[in-house]
Amino acid sequence: MDYCYHFVAPGAMTHKHSMGSSRTDSRLCTLDRQRQHPIWHRTLSPQTGTIMQNPASAHPTAIIGAGLAGLSAALSLTQRGMAVALFDKGRGPGGRLSTRRADGWRFDHGGQYLTVRDAGLRRVVDGLVADGHAAPWTGHIVRLTADGGVEPHPVERFVGVPGMNGIIQGLIARLPDAARPRFARRALSITGAPGDWHLRMEDGAVEGPFAAVIVAVPSPQAVDLLSPVAPALAMHAGEAVMAPCWALMLGFDQAALPAWDAAFIAGAGAEDRPLSWIAHDGAKPGRAGGASFVAHAAPDWSIRHLEDAADAVAAALLPAFRAATGISGDPALISAHRWRYALPTRPLSDGFLLDPALGIGACGDWCLEARAEAAFVSGARLAAAMGG
Ligand SMILES: Cc1cc2nc3c(=O)[nH]c(=O)nc-3n(C[C@H](O)[C@H](O)[C@H](O)COP(=O)(O)OP(=O)(O)OC[C@H]3O[C@@H](n4cnc5c(N)ncnc54)[C@H](O)[C@@H]3O)c2cc1C
Repeated sequence: MDYCYHFVAPGAMTHKHSMGSSRTDSRLCTLDRQRQHPIWHRTLSPQTGTIMQNPASAHPTAIIGAGLAGLSAALSLTQRGMAVALFDKGRGPGGRLSTRRADGWRFDHGGQYLTVRDAGLRRVVDGLVADGHAAPWTGHIVRLTADGGVEPHPVERFVGVPGMNGIIQGLIARLPDAARPRFARRALSITGAPGDWHLRMEDGAVEGPFAAVIVAVPSPQAVDLLSPVAPALAMHAGEAVMAPCWALMLGFDQAALPAWDAAFIAGAGAEDRPLSWIAHDGAKPGRAGGASFVAHAAPDWSIRHLEDAADAVAAALLPAFRAATGISGDPALISAHRWRYALPTRPLSDGFLLDPALGIGACGDWCLEARAEAAFVSGARLAAAMGG
C-alpha cells in the first residue's frame, strides 16, 4: 500500500504527495514556518524526509484519544525517545475496543476481534499473547446466508483477555508511566502556534505547551478539533464517512447454545433482517463462560434507528437474535449501546494526515480501512513520520 501524507503550505491549498516526492516542498514549508515562529523546533531529516524533534525541546507531543491508534502512536514515539502526553475522554481504557460490565456479565460490545496482517502489529500481538493480554480466537465462526445456509468463515483472529479492552490495557502497560493515558480528560480545542500548542480541556484546565499534536479520534470528532487550527486537514478528514452501529447485549442464566460461536449474517440491513453479527461472548478464550451474547445491527438499520431509545432498539433486535440463534428464553439482562461513529464506510487511503509545518497530525481506522488493525498501522505510520 502506498502511504501518503498531507502538508499545507502557509496560505495554500492542500497538496497530496507520496512520501518520497514531497520532501523538498515540505522542507521549504517547514523553514518558512520556522521564520514565522522562532520557537518552532522541529525540522525535516535530510536522510528520511521525516520530522525530527529537537532534543533540546522539553515539550512533549500531545495525543488526543487513547484508542488503538493513539496508543500505537504513543508506543512508537516513546520508543524513539520522545515524550508524549495522552488524553482520553473515556472513563477507562478501550475506545471502540471497550468491554462493558453489567450485573456480573462482561460484553465486548464494540470491536469483536483483531486481524493481524501487518508485521509490526504481529510483533505486538505476539507479546500481548505471551503476557496474557490477548489470545487467538479459534472458535467456530460461520456465515449465515440469506437462503438459510451455514458456511464456515475461517480467518486468523485474536481477542483481548479477559475482554477486548485487554488489548488496550496490554499496550498501556508497555508505555512509560509518564506517557500513560489520562482518562476522563476530554480535549475541547487546540490553541496556540506551531511548537507551542495547548489543549483546552472540558474540565477547564489548559494543558501544554506541546511541540506537536496528534488527533486520534473518529473522523467527525477529528474535524471538530482540527478545523480552527488546521482547516485543510479538517477538510480532508471530513471526506471520510463513518457509520453508526447499535450493539445488543444479552445475558442468559441458561440457554441452549447455537452450534456456532459467532456468525456473520449475510444481506443484513432491512427491517426484517437487522443483525449483521452475533457472537457468544462467553465462549471467547479467557472468559468466565456463561451465555453472554453481543449482536450488532447492520449500518443501514443503525442509521435508520440512530435516534431511537436504547430500550426500543433492544426490543426491536431481540426477535432477530432469537431467529438466528434458536434461543427462545427470556434474557436475564438485555441492553443496547449506540456507537455513533462505529466503522468507516468510506475511509481515506492516506494512512494518516500530517501537516509537518504545523506539527499537527491525525490517525485512526478512518485513514485506512474499517478494521482495528488499520487503526494500529495508521498510528504507527504517523509516529514514524513525526518521530524521525
Ligand atoms: C460495533 C463495532 C464493531 C467492530 N468490530 C470490529 C471487528 O470485529 N474487527 C475489527 O478489526 N474492528 C472492529 N471494529 C473497529 C475497531 O474497533 C476500530 O477500528 C478501532 O478500535 C479504532 O481505533 P481508534 O483508535 O482509531 O479509535 P477509537 O477506538 O474510537 O479511539 C478514539 C479514542 O478517542 C477518545 N476521544 C474522542 N474524542 C476525544 C476528545 N475530544 N478528547 C479526548 N479523547 C477523545 C475516545 O474516548 C476513544 O477512546 C468495530 C468497531 C465497532 C464500534
